[in-house]
Amino acid sequence: MSLVVVGSVAYDGVETPHGKVDRMLGGAATYVGLAAAYFAPVKIVAVVGDDFAQEDVDLLASRRIDLDGLERVAGGKTFFWAGVYSADMNDRTTLRTDLNVFADFQPKLPDAYRTAPYLFLGNIQPELQRNVRSQMPGVQFTGGDTMNYWINDFRAELLATLAQWDFLLINDSEARLLSGEHNLLRAAAKIQGMGPRTLIVKRGEYGAILFHEGEHFIAPGYLLEDVFDPTGAGDSFAGGFMGYLAGQGIKPAAGKANVAELRRAVIYGSVMGSFCCENFGVDRFRTLTRDEIETRFRELQNCTSF
Ligand code: AMP
Repeated sequence: MSLVVVGSVAYDGVETPHGKVDRMLGGAATYVGLAAAYFAPVKIVAVVGDDFAQEDVDLLASRRIDLDGLERVAGGKTFFWAGVYSADMNDRTTLRTDLNVFADFQPKLPDAYRTAPYLFLGNIQPELQRNVRSQMPGVQFTGGDTMNYWINDFRAELLATLAQWDFLLINDSEARLLSGEHNLLRAAAKIQGMGPRTLIVKRGEYGAILFHEGEHFIAPGYLLEDVFDPTGAGDSFAGGFMGYLAGQGIKPAAGKANVAELRRAVIYGSVMGSFCCENFGVDRFRTLTRDEIETRFRELQNCTSF
């Protein structure tokens, strides 16, 4: 079943201890879409300028990614983001955020998108996220991502948005900020009370915790010998998680929750996040195969089985 993904399609400049790339394909919707498309058909809703290169369109189109919802603004420039990582790559400093055409992004869903059962809302204004949700009245599993900026400065809007979500994927510091609780169990309970019955708290290289129906599941991070570029790892995690659920047709909100499938979805998220870090930008996804994904899934199973 298909998955609608809304968010940024961008060009990124990234510097890590392993090297520097001035401009390459990036954006949250790009990473979510590329990762999810290994599991299910994806429909992207985003905006780019007329500087968006044909080779980047071709990469996305060569996967199961529908680009009817990719708006192109004549005379406009694509969103540009640049960042630099600390030596241990656990911290990232944003050097530049040029919103360009993204500043006036008003996501409009093509008719063919509106009946898709799955919706992932990337990190955009909560009001826009709510607006997209309202264009899909029959959607069966909705959720997404947010960030400090919206939690701090747009709290009321964000709470109205979260009230309509089935799941939320955020990192641990954001979960603490959103809930006002340092303890993650208490933070999770508060956030679930805001709407999303399923909460995934990402913990960078340490993996993620799934909170669902009063229980939690701790998913490991895959240990890599070399992390080249963590940009997009969180979005690739989201793509693996949502892609797996959409591919299997699992809608935890619709009926009795299938906890084992949700756990597998989180592990696929962890797997896709780890692959993303193995090369700069989206490069690892140019060669990655479904067999490699399955092999890593089994490795994670083996190294946590007791
Ligand atoms: P992640 O490393 O998973 O947080 O994702 C990084 C991606 O998010 C990069 O490819 C950026 O282009 C994109 N990005 C960075 N800042 C923003 C923003 N303010 N809004 C939307 N996308 C962003």
